Amino acid sequence: MKNRAYWDSLTQSLAFDGRAFINGVRVTTTQTSPNFSPVTGSSLCEVSECGASEVDAAVAGARAAFSGPWSAMSPGARKGALMALANLILENADELALLDVLDMGKPISDATTIDVPGSAAILKFYAEAIDKVSGEIPTTDAGNVALVRRVPLGVVGAVVPWNYPLEMAIWKLAPALAAGNSVVLKPAEQSPLSALRLAELAIAAGLPAGTLNVVTGQGEITGALVGRHPDIDVLTFTGSTQVGKYFLEYSGQSNMKQVWLECGGKSPNIVFADTDNLQEAAEFASRAIFFNQGEVCSANSRLLVERSILEEFTALVKSESDKIVLGHPLNENTTMGPLVDRTQTTRVVDFIDSGKFSADLIRGGNRLTIENSDCYVEPTIFSEVPRDATIAQEEIFGPVLSIMAFDTEEDAIALANKTEYGLAASVWTSNLKRAHRVADALHVGTVSVNTVDALGLNIPFGGFKQSGFGRDLSLHALEKFTGLKTTWIRYE
Ligand code: NAD
Repeated sequence: MKNRAYWDSLTQSLAFDGRAFINGVRVTTTQTSPNFSPVTGSSLCEVSECGASEVDAAVAGARAAFSGPWSAMSPGARKGALMALANLILENADELALLDVLDMGKPISDATTIDVPGSAAILKFYAEAIDKVSGEIPTTDAGNVALVRRVPLGVVGAVVPWNYPLEMAIWKLAPALAAGNSVVLKPAEQSPLSALRLAELAIAAGLPAGTLNVVTGQGEITGALVGRHPDIDVLTFTGSTQVGKYFLEYSGQSNMKQVWLECGGKSPNIVFADTDNLQEAAEFASRAIFFNQGEVCSANSRLLVERSILEEFTALVKSESDKIVLGHPLNENTTMGPLVDRTQTTRVVDFIDSGKFSADLIRGGNRLTIENSDCYVEPTIFSEVPRDATIAQEEIFGPVLSIMAFDTEEDAIALANKTEYGLAASVWTSNLKRAHRVADALHVGTVSVNTVDALGLNIPFGGFKQSGFGRDLSLHALEKFTGLKTTWIRYE
């Protein structure tokens, strides 16, 4: 594995470029903002604040590419370009991984083994799918034939969060581009650099100028301009539930663009006393909340434990969490880095402070300063958490676990479903019938049984309730970026 000296030296050698990427070129804007790094504690570079003229130019470029060179490319040529982009991601893996780490603080070991190879794999999956999906010919009256095809919708606006900067962008743009659309991507203001670099790589891979544009800036300004743009056909969003609701409003206020939302979560991890390997369940329970600093939409932030094993299991989880190495994310042995910025760190610490009034803080709870950055928060565990407590209900999006006891299977299900979210859930049991019963009763998009947060690029991911709708990943994601078009021919 590459060591700290290697990553420090690569950091020194990188020329950070925060200029927007529109119609195939970097663009300088009159307004810029500093790009804070929670790793260095200072700004990496200035980043473009895109206003109406830049967003208009990006959408016009995307429209021209959609109606022109991108749609004119054969499926085989489009597949080739996306495959080339995936390979360029792998060739530039260290740089892309480092940009994400510096922008949002995740450990370099995760960025290099998960985010970057995962992004390339997703692009390849959709590139391969281009020439393997086909339409339908339903039955019709004699003398008629109806050809039903899925056609691209045009210009896709994609607005994404900062927790997996490169990968969240790829989750959106890979199926959108594969389906034949062009894209205007708005990365989170905290983490724009890998998306901007990706747009450069897309040109090198042979995607026509305008096919992938990146407009940077604040959510309320640049994000809202994308959401309200009259010439964007589809808006795909990953982020908080509150902002997801804004996009529904923007659509109604503008051109009724389709909106697809992947929003927040407060996912339960239910551990029954009949689980055959409690030690393994504890390892997974710790990972399920503390991985990526807890900044995961499907983080299992509520641990529901059958009362008869509560004490034993709580001790096991606490001891697993003690193995986490909180530290500078470019150190090889670090398993938890800083939170994305000071605002998020203060928000998480405020949740922890509120938790202390109602529950027992049994681990962590402190904000730390490491190498000039005060964005570190210890893995934190609360037990005896009341079911209505703020830390039991609201998404914290940080390394904070709330443990609650339950008495019966019905009680566990009711408690698990007692949230406005419905993204994911985990269930631990050795009883097959119970596993199916509980999975059926949980109102969430994905139930993981005897594992946590199961994810596969060919498996749909997304939620119910206020976690949103529509699905990322899998062939189903193509449905969001295509419309059913029928050509009906009467030949007799
Ligand atoms: P956020 O909602 O604050 O921001 C997400 C994106 O929306 C950013 O690009 C931001 O600039 C933009 N935005 C913010 N305010 C806006 C506005 N008023 N108008 C238009 N755009 C605006 O979310 P975040 O803090 O970046 O990310 C954390 C959230 O993302 C959590 O709630 C998490 O659960 C969610 N998330 C969900 C999934 C999923 O697949 N369900 C995956 C990752 C993250």
